[in-house]
Parts: sequence; structure tokens; C-alpha cells
Amino acid sequence: MPLMSTKVMFEKAMEGGYAIGAFNVNNMEIIQGIVEAAMEERAPLILQVSKGARKYANATYLRKMVEAAVEVSGLPIALHLDHGDSFELCKDCIDGGFSSVMIDGSALPYEENVALTKKVVEYAHAHNPYITVEGELGTLAGVEDEVSHEVSSYTRPEDVIDFVTRTGVDSLAIAIGTSHGAYKFKPEQCTRNEKGILVPPPLRFDILEAVSAKLPGFPIVLHGSSSVPQEFVQIINANGGKMPDAVGIPEDQLRKAAAMSVCKINIDSDLRLGCTAGIRKHFAEHPDHFDPRQYLSDARDNIKSVVKHKLVDVLGCAGKADEILEAYAKASK
Ligand SMILES: [Zn+2]
Repeated sequence: MPLMSTKVMFEKAMEGGYAIGAFNVNNMEIIQGIVEAAMEERAPLILQVSKGARKYANATYLRKMVEAAVEVSGLPIALHLDHGDSFELCKDCIDGGFSSVMIDGSALPYEENVALTKKVVEYAHAHNPYITVEGELGTLAGVEDEVSHEVSSYTRPEDVIDFVTRTGVDSLAIAIGTSHGAYKFKPEQCTRNEKGILVPPPLRFDILEAVSAKLPGFPIVLHGSSSVPQEFVQIINANGGKMPDAVGIPEDQLRKAAAMSVCKINIDSDLRLGCTAGIRKHFAEHPDHFDPRQYLSDARDNIKSVVKHKLVDVLGCAGKADEILEAYAKASK
């Protein structure tokens, strides 16, 4: 089975009121943890690779491992470039077998974003009409690999029809208050609950609704949508870590977005936190261990458990692999 196009995934997700999880992959254990979770839940997956991941692990290693994941799991899995920042990078991924790319021109002036995105879409669709391209309007604050912005700007709903029509993109990432990284909000932007844990400002569902009204049935993407599980933050801090006031997006808000027109939700920091919590705890309990298989197993187990929880309780895509495989088989006849 080839790598899956996100086109069929998004059609089904839109119909069914769920979202596909897009998880960032950087090494074998991360891929295995995600895929084991999805196999147990019969869930579709988008595995995404950033520029930083390509630099760390080499794009060929990552692609081959994702192909191995397809072979081992039999699940519908898309391989997506996260935050492509140039035509050349997107072209390289398309030529190299990715089934989906993002061109992020969101930091450019509007007309330049349109021109760059259109160029990538034209190349991708000429290469293979099933290769999907994600564009972005509006900017997210926070830090993720090489993508970093001090301030955010919400997507302007009045721009979306023009952008989608002129570029031909297959999906659109919008800014409604999500943010990259494990420190999504400064404490002064938040309130604190009774346990002293930061509660971030709510997502701007009014913007999501306005965008969806302008683009009915069009797949919307949310970046920066980790929830920063406090149990992982506590394990990290209890075992030598120092991550005060790490804060994410409440999961009930993401569930609500997934039931609307949001078809792809990007999650990276929560996997990093699970990985780090597993390793820190392992070393605290077993100071004599030095075999990477020992502590990386704990990291992988945590990644698997956090992904299972996301598939079932946040994205709503557990059990949806087979309807996507059927739809894909029908579409490619
Ligand atoms: Zn992102």
C-alpha cells in the first residue's frame, strides 16, 4: 500500500466530525510509539517531518521508517512536510515521495504568500493530483524547531476565500489562538485554577466559525495544539527537570474544533514531554542503566499512551482507519 493522500482522509473526517492527528516524527521510537497506538485504535495517521527533523535524522531515514510503518500497520498513513519554508524544500519532498506538504508563507506579505503557495500547489498537483498542499494564513506565536514568532496575528476570515481560490490549496492552517511549543502562553496571559495551574485564554471559535462559513466543507488545520499534560510536566520536574509554567491548549476545546471543520490537528510537544518524562524517570529509578533500549522503551511507552488518548478522546478518529481505506480504494479505481 502506498503512502496515503490526505484528500480522502479529510473528506471522511469532515463527514464524520473528527480530525486526523498529525504527529511530528524525528526518530524510530517516536514513529513506533505513534504507530502502535494507532494500530490498537485502528486510526488513520499523518506523520509529519519538519525541516529540523530532516536536519536531525535525514529525510531518507524518516521516509523509509514511515514506509515501514505503513507496511507493518496496514493503516492509512500520510507522510507530510511540516512548515515547508521554500518552493525548493517542498519540491524536494514531493520528488522524494511525500504524499503531502505544507508551504508556510504566513510570515510573508499576503501577495507573496499567495504567489509562493500557488507555485507549490501547481508543482504538487502536476506531479500527482493526490499530493495535497497545506497553506497558512495568520501567524502563531511560540517556538517550534526553526519556526518562531514573538507575536501572533489571528487569521482574517475576509482573506480566506481569495487565498484558497487563487492558490488552489487543499487545506488551510489558521491562527485562532493555538501556539507552538510547551510554553504556549505567558503567565500574565492566563488565569490560574485552584491547583495553581495556568489556564490559557480560550480559542477564538468565532474566527473558526467565520472561516467555515466562508469555506463550507473545506478542511481547516490547527497547528500548535499540544495540551502539555501536567502529569508529564510534574514527572519531569520531580526528576531533575525544570519546566515551570509549561501550558497548552485544553483538550475539550480541541475536541470541539475537531467536530467542526478542523480536519488536521498538529501535536508535537506532548510527545516530546512524554518522551522526556519517561527517560528522566527511568534514570532516576535506575541510575545504573546505560542501555538505550531500556530508557527508550519507557519513552516509547509514554508516547504510545499519549497518542492513544489523543486518538480516542481528542481527535475522535479511533476506529476510522477502515472507512478511509475503503474510500481510498474506491477513489483510486
Ligand atoms: Zn506548526
